[in-house]
Amino acid sequence: MSLTDEERAVYEWQIWVPGFGETGQEKLKDSSVLVSRVGGLGSVVAYELAAAGIGRLVLAHAGNIKPSDLNRQLLMTHAGLGQPRVTSAERRLRELNPRLEILPVGENLSEENAAQLVGEVDLVVDCAPRFPERFAMNRQCVRQGKPLIECAMYDMEAQITTILPGQSPCLGCLYPEDPPAWKREFPVFGAVSGTVGCLGAMEAIKVLSGLGEPLAGTLLTCDLRNMTFHRRRLLRQPDCDICGDAANDRGVS
Ligand SMILES: [Zn+2]
Repeated sequence: MSLTDEERAVYEWQIWVPGFGETGQEKLKDSSVLVSRVGGLGSVVAYELAAAGIGRLVLAHAGNIKPSDLNRQLLMTHAGLGQPRVTSAERRLRELNPRLEILPVGENLSEENAAQLVGEVDLVVDCAPRFPERFAMNRQCVRQGKPLIECAMYDMEAQITTILPGQSPCLGCLYPEDPPAWKREFPVFGAVSGTVGCLGAMEAIKVLSGLGEPLAGTLLTCDLRNMTFHRRRLLRQPDCDICGDAANDRGVS
């Protein structure tokens, strides 16, 4: 899909990025992304993708805005307290980019809706805090062959990896079981969730446009308390329930 003159003007500064160009911008315009939860992480992912000119966003998040959302959920506003999160998110994103197509879904991802929501898009950014949701997303992305950016944070730490089904390890290779320590509510600054949200948006832009090298098979961990960043190689587990040999034989993936 070629760009309009208005789009060329809006995206001019990123079209200058070597290796991206007008072709990269056209690929973003043709792309759709599911952001699973638009909280601390997902608000920033969605905002950066909207700013970058993604064609279509599917936003999935249940519930209404609470006071304790406002330190980090940057698509939520004080005036929107008590109103649905996806409504506020859609309004803020449209203010930034009126060309953007948005499908707001007032539900969290689950085993029931994962297949349909993943089927709507080209790529998924998983910003859900709890593992049952993240496992359901991982299973569907592997099954449907859709790239999945996995972002997480706790306290001052953040981590991110990019899952390219069939090429890189999946979330099940990293976490064979639900880690009991992860909770829905946890200590965090908005600047920490925002940091990993920007990294997640950049990974999505790279995978969709073919720019640079994504974090496939690599876990990036960031400790913002002392600003240390580490890359750890991840290995695919042949006995993984989701992407391993037995799962392939059963036709799971
Ligand atoms: Zn796996």
